[in-house]
Amino acid sequence: METTNVKAYGAQSKEASLEQLNIVRREVTAKDIEIEILYCGVCHSDLHTARNDWGGTVYPAVPGHEIVGKITKVGSEVTKFKVGDTAAVGCMVDSCRTCESCQHDLEQYCMTGFTGTYNGRDKHLGKQTFGGYAEKVVVDEHFVLKVPENLDLAATAPLLCAGITTWSPLRHWKVTKGSNVAVIGLGGLGHMAIKLAKALGANVTLFSRSPEKKQDAFDLGADEIVISTDKSQMSGARGKFDLIIDTVPYIHDVNHYIPTLGINGTIVLVGYLGPLDPMLNTVPMIMGRKSVAGSLIGGIAETQEMLDFCGEHNITSEIEIIKMQDINEAYERMLKSDVHYRFVIDMASLKE
Ligand code: NAP
Ligand code: ZN
Ligand code: ZN
Repeated sequence: METTNVKAYGAQSKEASLEQLNIVRREVTAKDIEIEILYCGVCHSDLHTARNDWGGTVYPAVPGHEIVGKITKVGSEVTKFKVGDTAAVGCMVDSCRTCESCQHDLEQYCMTGFTGTYNGRDKHLGKQTFGGYAEKVVVDEHFVLKVPENLDLAATAPLLCAGITTWSPLRHWKVTKGSNVAVIGLGGLGHMAIKLAKALGANVTLFSRSPEKKQDAFDLGADEIVISTDKSQMSGARGKFDLIIDTVPYIHDVNHYIPTLGINGTIVLVGYLGPLDPMLNTVPMIMGRKSVAGSLIGGIAETQEMLDFCGEHNITSEIEIIKMQDINEAYERMLKSDVHYRFVIDMASLKE
């Protein structure tokens, strides 16, 4: 198969800083689109992958799954896009397309596993996939999204992961006008969850460990802030929420939040992956028919729905634009929860 060399940024090992390297992209096949990447958001999953927090990272690892760019080539059977269009790619670049999940627009739950934009397995090249910290990407048109024309391109990039990951549970648990929603953690996912829940008409509360983020949370649309380390504030929030979206990336005590759910309420974990410690206490769940759930990004149709909703409501991410060369410092700031509220890489810097 024909390939081209592309400049990228990636990690050679879990201890290594990210540095410039060359990767290979396939030439477009009949259904493929080649995109020149203009902007790529920096998700906490990029950091987890570069540092092998979840195990299974193949090196070199090139992260990045919040991609916005311009189409530079299309294959002979591409129908949805043309050269020159703006296009976006999120966390998936392929799936089986035939299983029950794929047939129901739930490619993220593909029974044989979707192909991740990075650290997945490219079916064409038989090698690992490389993400958006690169000049270009080649993707099957089914996994390419349209960007509403009124939205700022850099600030749209984070919608492709932070946006859809919070939109999907808001939709699945039918959040609507008057729903009581809480968000745990004001980072990339958390700030999008506040904006999207607010635009759906919900009353929105933020749980945060960081009192200094209070004003920002109000400015983003939160109605209330609860400092999660303050016992009296936590007990004041008992029995309140229909849905809590927990975006905390590391192990934490989920039991702490269950009393704040109302009867039939659900806490959906989207951040931390792995066993919980301390274990979950079932008593408060049983006593109020409460659920603890998980959720993974969102399907392609749902991602387009979210982008269109953001276009209609003029919603984008709060961003700090960085150069590709600043990525290692950005990761260190992300570990300190010092992101306001998403880093986005201006990919023109990779040409410097
Ligand atoms: P982020 O920007 O770093 O934000 C995480 C926020 O969580 C922080 O700003 C902080 O908020 C809070 N936090 C951080 N460490 C904490 C700790 N040890 N205990 C309690 N709170 C803590 O990260 P992100 O990009 O939003 O990603 C969040 C997580 O979601 C990551 O683990 C990422 O891998 C995962 N993710 C999952 C999916 C999915 O499909 N399920 C998709 C994308 C990302 P405060 O300062 O307000 O407390
Ligand atoms: Zn992500
Ligand atoms: Zn499938």
